[in-house]
Order: sequence, then C-alpha cells, then structure tokens
Amino acid sequence: MKTSRSEQLFEKAKSYFPGGVNSPVRAFRSVGGTPRFIAKGKGSRIWDADGNEFIDYCCSWGPLILGHAPNAVVDAVCTAVAEGSSFGAPTAKENELAELILSNNPFIERIRFVSSGTEAVMSAIRLARGYTGKNKILKFEGCYHGHVDSLLVKAGSGLVTFGNTSSAGIPEAFVNETIVVSLDNETAVEEAFAEFGQDIACVIIEPVPANNGLLLQRAEFMHFLRNICNEYKSLLLFDEVISGFRVGFTGAAGYYQIQPDIITYGKIIGGGLPVGAYGGRKEIMSCISPEGNVYQAGTLSGNPVAMSAGIAQLTACLRSNFYQELEQKCSTLCDAVNEHARKKAYAFKMHQIGSIFWIAFSNAEHIRTAEAIDPNSMSFFRTMYHALLERGIYMGPSGYEVGFVSEAHTTEDLQTTIVAMCEALDLAHQ
Ligand SMILES: *Cc1c(COP(=O)(O)O)cnc(C)c1O
Repeated sequence: MKTSRSEQLFEKAKSYFPGGVNSPVRAFRSVGGTPRFIAKGKGSRIWDADGNEFIDYCCSWGPLILGHAPNAVVDAVCTAVAEGSSFGAPTAKENELAELILSNNPFIERIRFVSSGTEAVMSAIRLARGYTGKNKILKFEGCYHGHVDSLLVKAGSGLVTFGNTSSAGIPEAFVNETIVVSLDNETAVEEAFAEFGQDIACVIIEPVPANNGLLLQRAEFMHFLRNICNEYKSLLLFDEVISGFRVGFTGAAGYYQIQPDIITYGKIIGGGLPVGAYGGRKEIMSCISPEGNVYQAGTLSGNPVAMSAGIAQLTACLRSNFYQELEQKCSTLCDAVNEHARKKAYAFKMHQIGSIFWIAFSNAEHIRTAEAIDPNSMSFFRTMYHALLERGIYMGPSGYEVGFVSEAHTTEDLQTTIVAMCEALDLAHQ
C-alpha cells in the first residue's frame, strides 16, 4: 500500500503542530507507523491522500452515525452557511434542534448548546457545584470526560483516592476536589460517600464507558449510583457524549431507564460539526446564566450551520427501526468474528452494545473495569491493526478505542470486514 503522500504530509505537519496533530491519538503512537491523512469520505468509505480506500469504523470517533457526508446533512449545511454562519444572536434553528431533542427525550427538560463535549462536561460540573453548593466530584477510573482540568485525574493506589493528575499543568488543588474510584465497585463508592458525602456535588460517569475499552456496567451498579446520590443529595451526571443518540435516541438514560440529574451530549448531536450540549430538569438548568448565577457562554454556541447539521442528522435517527438496524449490523460483524475466534480457541472477544464494538484480546465474558484490561494484550491489537489497514479497513488507532457501525455500512461492507478481521486475527496469533 502506497503511503508516501501521507508520510510527506505528516513530516510537514510536525513542523506546524505538536506531534504533527491537533488531537493526540491521531498521531498513531499506540499502533506505530504513519497516520493516514484523509482526503475525503462518503458513506462507509474514506480515501487517504495516496488514494487508498478504506471502510471506516472510526467514523470521526462516533459523530458520524449516518456515515460520511450524508446528503441530508450536506444539503442542510450548504443551505445554512450561504445564509450566514453565525450571528451571536438567537436563531430559529436552535429552537428547532432543541424541540427535536426535548420532545423525544423525557430525561431532560431544558438544554444548552455549546461547541464540544469537553465544554459540555466542564459547564455541567460547574452547574452541579453551583446548584448543590458542594465542591467535590466523584469520577471513575477508565471514564473519559474530555480534557477538563479537574477530570484529567487518575486513581491512586487505594480503594478511594484523590487521584493523581494524568496531565501536567493541573494544580494539586484541583485534584484534591476529585475523588477517583473503580467502576463496578459499590463498596468503593460507599466508602467515598461515607467519608466525603456531605461535600460531593456530583458523581460523573460514562454510563456506557467507551473511551478505555468498552466497560459495560451492571444495571444494578447504575441503579445503585442513582440511589446513593439521592441519599446524599448529590447529583448524578451522565456523560453521554458517546452514548447519547448512539445506544438509542435517548442514550444510556433510556437504555437503563435511569433519570440522571444532568446529561451531557456531544459527537452525534452535531451531525459532524462541533456541537456539545448539557441538559437536565428545569429547576437545575435555571441556575445557568442569565436565569441563574452559574456563568456559561459561547460566541459560536448554537450557530445555525452546526444546528442545521444536528437537525438533519437527528431527524434521520428518529426514523423507525433506525437503531434496531444499526445494532443488527454490528451484531452480524461481532458474532461472525467471535465465532471464528472461538473455533481457533483465541483469547479474544468483540464486545458490543448497539452499534459500538470493542476488540478485546481476552476470553473474559465481561470486562467491567479499566484495571481488568491487560496492557500486554495491546501488542495483538497493533498487529491486527496494520493487517486491517492493509486490507482496506480503518479503525481508531488504539486498542483502547471502540469502533462504530454507521447507517452507511452495507451488508457487503460487513462481509468484507469479517473476512479481513478473521485474517488479521490469524496473523496476530502467528
Ligand atoms: C468524546 C468525549 C468527550 C469529549 O468531547 P470533545 O468533543 O472531544 O471535547 C467527553 N466525554 C465523553 C464520554 C466522550 O466520549
């Protein structure tokens, strides 16, 4: 496979950007080799700068649930941008996207649009603190919530710990307000509340943790979190930046039938353009400025181009059977590859929820905590990754990342992918 053009572009990019990229995982550090520079995408396919074609399962890390450049989104964006891209004044399109969401999602009554998932989480945390008058937040090891200072924190060595920063540049004082515990562990959460409960503003969780493997949680654990938050008058914050509009239109709240106090969205909500949002009960959301005293603002928030993309995409998601069909496609892929691995007795399992899948080099039926992922298994992923690229299959370049099936993936695409994955898996085990 020719890669000279991507190599040239990457060399050039390194003279402009730290590590040659504008977001770290794109640099291919965890799989090695040169990142493919993508020239265009349509449907399930992308083409790199050397003209190589791939079936894409990265899908921009989740936003592209209809595939690349779906006609409805392209048309809506072109029409909107020709009429002006941003006014810094309200537009009807914000109402339209809000109406689409709120009338189909019983878990939130008011919403605010921002421009990224990180911004949504950052604002939601401020809201939780402003509403409760408490300071600490409790998060789970292995959940990612964007690059918010107080959440770039990883667990220390005890059951309940104030974490260590997972980035330079974060003051110790911030870390002291963030408690980190393991997923899937009621005891750790109980201990944290026993010790700090009076000052915990919120528990934040990815209800479908999908940024460090796919760590599907027990429903009982999720209900336990709801109950303990009620008991201590802390808020339960679902970070649904990945799971929102993905595991169903109502996301993980709908999937588990749990009412969180605040929900954050991103990725799919913007139809491939930069949009994030947070929402909740009227009473909580009314703390946000200008109604309340929790300040939050944005120059490009709710801009009509991004709103138009979101409206077009979410309208498509509301078609009947949309999510059932996506899930079916993803099952077709996972079941076939898992069956191949079973016959060959590989330590391997593709984990799935809806149209999200994760490749694990382990036989474990369930992997529920970050600690349960064996870092040594990533060497299998690296081999498999490059074998897949060679066969025209593109995935996110890290074994800790999940893959996404879109509406644009055809039965034929899936069959091609199954063959490629089985071959790549055999190579990884040689
Ligand atoms: C992607 C993601 C974020 C960050 O969103 P950005 O748009 O990249 O800032 C936050 N939380 C979760 C759960 C995510 O998946």
